[in-house]
Amino acid sequence: MNIMEKENNLKSWEGIIPVTTKCEICQKEIWYNHKEKVMSIHFDLSNKRVSEIKYPMQWLSRNPKSKEAMFEWDLCCFGYLCYDCYMAFLNKDKQTIADSLNLYVRKQTDAAMHAPYLAAQRQLDNGKIIE
Ligand SMILES: [Zn+2]
Repeated sequence: MNIMEKENNLKSWEGIIPVTTKCEICQKEIWYNHKEKVMSIHFDLSNKRVSEIKYPMQWLSRNPKSKEAMFEWDLCCFGYLCYDCYMAFLNKDKQTIADSLNLYVRKQTDAAMHAPYLAAQRQLDNGKIIE
């Protein structure tokens, strides 16, 4: 298969795969089939899921859009990530990270809510102001 055929195959998927979208984690704008890797969509499988399609871009370049190919593609349910998020979360347990992040944000919000009270409390020693 020559470069032209591969490029045409990739192009045939435009619309099924959005030409442009946002990274599902950080919301950065990303493009399908962009030649610069930092600008392009990185197809991600979350949480230890396995897929028949190991190398999505390579697969897309070798399989023109067809009813059967679309079915296979849709079963993979790839996430759309930017390069940075893809690399940051590669082989990491995203559910654990999401749970920890959620807990951290809640703790921080809670701490900020109680900060004035705690700060004032520290100023007092048995009801007396510490000099
Ligand atoms: Zn991102």
